[in-house]
Amino acid sequence: MLPVRPELVGQEPYGAPQLDVPVRLNVNENPFPLPPVVVDAVTEATRGLAAGLNRYPDRDAVALRRRLAGYLGHGLDERHIWAANGSNEVMTHLLQAFAGPGRRVLTFTPTYSMYPEYARNTWSDYVTLPRCEDFSIDLDAFEAAVGQEMPHVVIVTTPNNPTGTATPLEVIARILEITENGEASAMVIVDEAYQEFARPGTASALDLLEDNPRLVVTRTMSKAFGFAGGRLGYLAAAPEVVDVCRVVRLPYHLSAVTQAVASAAVDHADVLMGQVAELRAQRDRMEAELRGMGLEVAESDANFVLFGRFEDRHAVWADLLERGVLIREVGPPGWLRVSAGTPEETDAFLRAMSEIVPDAVLMDTAVMTDEAAAQVNRSNA
Ligand SMILES: *Cc1c(COP(=O)(O)O)cnc(C)c1O
Repeated sequence: MLPVRPELVGQEPYGAPQLDVPVRLNVNENPFPLPPVVVDAVTEATRGLAAGLNRYPDRDAVALRRRLAGYLGHGLDERHIWAANGSNEVMTHLLQAFAGPGRRVLTFTPTYSMYPEYARNTWSDYVTLPRCEDFSIDLDAFEAAVGQEMPHVVIVTTPNNPTGTATPLEVIARILEITENGEASAMVIVDEAYQEFARPGTASALDLLEDNPRLVVTRTMSKAFGFAGGRLGYLAAAPEVVDVCRVVRLPYHLSAVTQAVASAAVDHADVLMGQVAELRAQRDRMEAELRGMGLEVAESDANFVLFGRFEDRHAVWADLLERGVLIREVGPPGWLRVSAGTPEETDAFLRAMSEIVPDAVLMDTAVMTDEAAAQVNRSNA
């Protein structure tokens, strides 16, 4: 037996199955390959830096951060932006800086399954508060939980994964008020990984940044940009937040290759974002057609749809896989999540569903009680 940290014994590494099937709609990637103009830009950027790979990269990735600031607008510049290898590294930097041993991270479930891992890896306590039946945030329960738990970091995922639920700006503003407590105030991290897919009129928490030094908005190039393989996540916040991220990051954490190819992709944000409208349309089509099949569908502002509820969701997941369609078994009991695909992939998914649903048994939600009454859950404690 190796002297492994006790809390890691028996733990499995995170990961949705990476199966090689024709239609992969399980991890919310952008299904479109990069357009040729972006492929050319990325290739040229790589060629341009190759001879210089004998040197360490820019530790602070300034050129890339400047571009990301330009993309976000809102009067931001590179001092407000931090970047790392995927927003999961950004989130780890934030918890290293603001959470850690004896400190608590609070979030609203169901939500992203990686948060408890970031908390574990940074020795932070992880506390969750259930969302309402419609997956919105219960502010009264939150206020009570803040009084009881005194969290150091609150994570709000909007649009939320796996439910697709957007949180209105007023609610985020209230969360900032509720967590204001002098020296014991909490940092509020708003994870906007899917913000580009939100329906028109869904404001970004970037609008609240100017007056709120405790607010951090995280973004990623993995979803709307179609750049999951490039591994680039970033945040926008007060310069003081960026400064402390620079303290905890590993030296040279962002390779010269990553910085250059991500910069090239950001330069073509317009082209890449051209696909977002198409993906929204496919999402809306999935929502409408799944409802038409008599299923429950959570309203989505992301590039995926949560639907159900099935007595045996695993059987539905397996029946889809048998038909060459891979989706995700995630979320509360009975629900499944599917990512918006290309029109052809969406066709294939909906065709398979129309064959499967007539034989699937739905949960009798009428007899469900409000058992998930707002109750705080703790782990890593
Ligand atoms: C996909 C996703 C991310 C992005 O993670 P990366 O590490 O940037 O690929 C972040 N937050 C949520 C909620 C996600 O679903």
